[in-house]
Amino acid sequence: MKSTSSRLQKKIKELSKLTYKAITILPNCKSCGTCIKFCPLNIRKLNDQGKAITITSDYICGGCSVCYHRCPNNAIKLISLKK
Ligand code: SF4
Ligand code: SF4
Repeated sequence: MKSTSSRLQKKIKELSKLTYKAITILPNCKSCGTCIKFCPLNIRKLNDQGKAITITSDYICGGCSVCYHRCPNNAIKLISLKK
């Protein structure tokens, strides 16, 4: 029982050091604007090629996954980053 608890605590500690970010698989993006419309932090914008990307701003994408689930073209994936 104790070892299960310590494994769980170790896992929780590992996960607490991770954050997530949405990135675009550019060839899959059809520029529909859905992710831009629904991102709660307003950090999805069209780049010079008209593809939606996650921008750097005062707000940091923590990977809430709204854009990931809304994209009709599977053009977004969430990557894990160390904090
Ligand atoms: S929802 Fe998907 S296809 Fe539409 S603009 Fe965003 S990344 Fe591109
Ligand atoms: S994961 Fe959430 S916060 Fe990050 S870009 Fe997508 S909708 Fe915005």
